[in-house]
Amino acid sequence: MLVQRIMLIPFVYHILFFTVVTAARVTEKFGFGLDRLRSQDTKTSPKPLTPAEQPLQFPQWLEAFTGLKSWPGNEPPYIPLDFIDFSQVPQIPAHNQGQCQGLVNACSFDCFNCISYDDVYTCPRLSQTFDDGPTPQTIKLVLDGGLKDKLTFFTLGVNVVRYPHIYREVVRHGHVMGSHTWSHKYLPSLLNEQIVAQLEWSIWAMNATAGHLPKWFRPPYGGVDDRVRAIVRQFGMQLVLWNMDTFDWKLFDNLRTEQEILGDIDKYTLSNQGLGLVLEHDTTLATVNLAINIQKKLPKQMTVPQCVGGIDYIKLFKE
Ligand SMILES: [Zn+2]
Repeated sequence: MLVQRIMLIPFVYHILFFTVVTAARVTEKFGFGLDRLRSQDTKTSPKPLTPAEQPLQFPQWLEAFTGLKSWPGNEPPYIPLDFIDFSQVPQIPAHNQGQCQGLVNACSFDCFNCISYDDVYTCPRLSQTFDDGPTPQTIKLVLDGGLKDKLTFFTLGVNVVRYPHIYREVVRHGHVMGSHTWSHKYLPSLLNEQIVAQLEWSIWAMNATAGHLPKWFRPPYGGVDDRVRAIVRQFGMQLVLWNMDTFDWKLFDNLRTEQEILGDIDKYTLSNQGLGLVLEHDTTLATVNLAINIQKKLPKQMTVPQCVGGIDYIKLFKE
């Protein structure tokens, strides 16, 4: 019962994140390794929290599994997991964002818009998705006057443990939660172990907060190649990309206006027969207000699992 959740958790202007998996059962199923690294950083902690925003306690089962006593900062430590086999991960060189030379056969989405057989990137009905939360702004989306349909949120572990009550409220309203890493790193630039760390801590945060293991994963910046994919698949997760980017984060610098984005939605709907997945962010009041106005144009939206006939979560744990 104690060691009941070991799996994973996921920040910037359009950026913030967390995840976890249940130990006992996950151990049964995957046989977790017991080696562990010590946390190397405990920085972070932005603005003061109100009483309603108490960060999530570090659970005993995760302390027992990791040997740590608190949630990590933006550089989560790698904790070995028995079910991860690095020998099955293709040896594609790590690279920074925008460095696309030599990646022709690596199926990079951000470099070449390459999609693999099990990537989800569209939907039978044009549907909104939200990245980088939860944040204090997220709550407006789930209250009266917010979203009418159940949608999909790709969360950052760091934000999940910072705003657990908001995360749970989104879940309570029936939306589907996916992982967006622990701290919003460009995954193709990381070592395999660092990628695992971004995924496992994100999952652990989600599991510790709401008792579920995510099925759906969206890579920050769309940064994914076959090396990252191979690791995501070993967690049983599936990649979710998009085919309509609102660039809503540009509202912040007035590089785009809400009217321009709403016009793009209209054009996209007309030229794509109402199909697709829309990329948005539940990070600022401007993006959240935009989201509410976009949804007025898009009736009967679907969650990602509804789009593809899949499951909401890999596993749900009852308390
Ligand atoms: Zn993001």
